[in-house]
Amino acid sequence: MHKICVPLFVAGLLTTFLACSSYAESSPTTVVIDAGHGGYDRGGIPGQRASEKDMTLDVARRLKSILAASGYRVVMTRDSDVFVPLGTRTAIANSNRNAIFVSVHFNSATRRSASGIETYFYNRESLSLASAIHHYVAGGAPSENRGVRRRGYFVLRRTNMPSVLVECGFLTNPTEAGYVQNASYRQKLAEEIAAGVRSRGSVASSRGTTRVATAESIPMQPYIDQTKVHESKKSRSKRSSKKSSRKKKSSSKRSSSDARATSSDREA
Ligand SMILES: [Zn+2]
Repeated sequence: MHKICVPLFVAGLLTTFLACSSYAESSPTTVVIDAGHGGYDRGGIPGQRASEKDMTLDVARRLKSILAASGYRVVMTRDSDVFVPLGTRTAIANSNRNAIFVSVHFNSATRRSASGIETYFYNRESLSLASAIHHYVAGGAPSENRGVRRRGYFVLRRTNMPSVLVECGFLTNPTEAGYVQNASYRQKLAEEIAAGVRSRGSVASSRGTTRVATAESIPMQPYIDQTKVHESKKSRSKRSSKKSSRKKKSSSKRSSSDARATSSDREA
């Protein structure tokens, strides 16, 4: 009798504790999870082996389970392999009250050695969430810490709530792609993001995250991923190697101004 009762009692205590700790969470209590890309939009760069859209969805689903178990209300902008336009994603987010928005992505670059975790925010009210998520994800991953960055991605500009986009590593980096293809690593990523969500507001002030800063000290970055632009210039010059050096120069110039013009609305 006792042998059965003790585990039941412990389970009961645990449930009570979990319920209490979730009720103790401050509002907002809805987390809108945005799995990047989907459907015909694989994400990443052409020829990339690991499909970004599948990895983002898997981490998003794991994150959903963890946060739901912690008592959060969770809304997914997509929960299957479908294409959802950016405007729809932000509309879904904005239809919730007392919400925060977390967009899950993986990075890519033609330079295979590019690696690390970076977390983006745009509005000042999003900085503490970005700092908290970055503190845990970058702290928990065996990857380079690329810092908390400010950039005007569509989903960050058009959501009227604290919103963050986390790039959980480079799928074009063989080592990081290797980690990400492991389900237990994706579970760890989801757990670290969830830890950041839970401790938003407390990390920036009390913990020594390496790149945590105030909104004033993080300058607005131009809408260019320097790694990618550098590489696209390289591959472009390779393709146009038969042309004169003068032509090469002008095409490089065009490529970086194209990037500036279009990438503010790209998804990441
Ligand atoms: Zn992406």
